[in-house]
Amino acid sequence: MFCRCPHCAKARELGGKNIRTRSSAIIDDTLKIDFPPDTLHHVLRDRIDLGLVKDLFVTHTHSDHLRAEDLEMRLPVYAHGLDHPLRVYGHDAVVRKCREAVGRPGAEHISIRRILPFETVDTGTTLVTALPANHDPDETCLLYYIEKDGKSIFYGHDTGLLPEETWSWLASRKLDLAILDCTNGNLPFTGSHLNIEAVLAIRNRLNDAGILRNGGQTVVTHFSHNIGLLHDDLTAIFNPEYIIVAYDGMVISI
Ligand SMILES: [Zn+2]
Ligand SMILES: [Zn+2]
Ligand SMILES: [Zn+2]
Repeated sequence: MFCRCPHCAKARELGGKNIRTRSSAIIDDTLKIDFPPDTLHHVLRDRIDLGLVKDLFVTHTHSDHLRAEDLEMRLPVYAHGLDHPLRVYGHDAVVRKCREAVGRPGAEHISIRRILPFETVDTGTTLVTALPANHDPDETCLLYYIEKDGKSIFYGHDTGLLPEETWSWLASRKLDLAILDCTNGNLPFTGSHLNIEAVLAIRNRLNDAGILRNGGQTVVTHFSHNIGLLHDDLTAIFNPEYIIVAYDGMVISI
C-alpha cells in the first residue's frame, strides 16, 4: 500500500482487474478460505454477506491471509442478526493467532479448531482435507482439497512446488478446479512460491496423472507487483495454456 514502483503506479492508473487486494475465496457463500486484512473491503465492494459463512479455513498466518483481530467483529456488540456460529480451522500457529486476538469466545459465536495435515473435516455439506504446502519452514502451512456435491477444488496457495506427500494424496483423487500460486510470475523460481514455469509443470502433472478431470479448470492467482505484469500481460501468457488468470471479485462455476 506504500509502494511507488512504476508497476503499482500503472495498475492504479488503469484500475479494473489490475487492482489486486489480498487473497481469499468463498465457496457457495458459506465456506471461506483465508481472512485477509482486505476482507471488509471485499464485503463492501462485492456485496458479500459474510454472515452466511459457516466455515473458515485458514491456510497460514502470513499477514496477507489472516487478520485474526477482525474475528472480533463476529462477536456480539459488533455483529447482529447471526443465526449460527463461525467455525475457524487452521494449524497450530493459526489457532494461536486467533486465540490471541479473540480468546475463547462462546462456541455459539466462534469455534476455533486445530487441524493437522491429511485430516478431513466434514462441515455437514462439504469435506475439506488439509494438505501440506511448501511455503514457510517455520509453520505447517496448509493447502485444501474441497469436495462438495460430486465436485472438487484444490486450493493451492501459498506454496512452492508441492511436497511429494501432497502429490501422493492427490494421486487417487479427481479435480474440477485447481487454484495455484503464481506469485513469482516470470522471475526465477524461489522455492516458497510458484512462478509461471512451475505452474505449468504442476498443471501438466495434474493432467498427466489424470487428477484434473477432462474439462477441469486451472486458475492462477496471488501475483506479486515485483513481477511487473498487469492483468492483460498475465492473460496473454496463460490463455494459450488454457489457464485462467484470477482477478478480484472473479466468480467461477464448476
Ligand atoms: Zn509496487
Ligand atoms: Zn504466505
Ligand atoms: Zn500470501
